[in-house]
Amino acid sequence: MCHAFLNDSRFYQFLFCIDQDSAAEVQAGGCSCGGVLHSARYPRKPRGIRGVLDESYQTRLSFCCAVEGCRRRCTPPSVRFLGRKVYLGVIVILITALEHGLTPKRRQRLIEALDIWPQTLSRWQQWWRETFPASHCWQAERGHFILPVDCSQLPGALLGRLTGDDLQQRLCQFLSLLIPMTTHSWSGYLKVVIDPQKM
Ligand SMILES: [Zn+2]
Repeated sequence: MCHAFLNDSRFYQFLFCIDQDSAAEVQAGGCSCGGVLHSARYPRKPRGIRGVLDESYQTRLSFCCAVEGCRRRCTPPSVRFLGRKVYLGVIVILITALEHGLTPKRRQRLIEALDIWPQTLSRWQQWWRETFPASHCWQAERGHFILPVDCSQLPGALLGRLTGDDLQQRLCQFLSLLIPMTTHSWSGYLKVVIDPQKM
């Protein structure tokens, strides 16, 4: 594979640690009813890179209110799982961004290695073209860029504008920017800090 970190289990453990920190913050905040949040993880089966993922990737961190009669579910934002997509967020960004950056042959090899169906790929392209530009998340973020990001070239145009020493760091910045789109059952504000020292 052309990007070594994709095959490095430490990269995925790093993302898991970020998710754990986010989850701890959400849990500490409690339920909107004032109740305590109990762990209620749900199963996930991420596709494509299973070989390097440990068992922490078999579940999504989530909580349930302990108060009888409330029992509200509360799923913290994630830098690993992009909503209900079966591929990890990092793959959904990277493969679509590489559309213009790799030779068709190399990109095809990566798509085959990750076992991505053509229909899945065109759904992602549509998501980046339509869903993401219209989202609250992007509407809030786009103003932070002094030079406007070309929405017809997402996600590559945005990936190229984020800070980081290498692709891996910029992908992490991208994932942390996307977190408001990764949950519908929690809407607070959470700041993800990417510490390259821990990578
Ligand atoms: Zn509650």
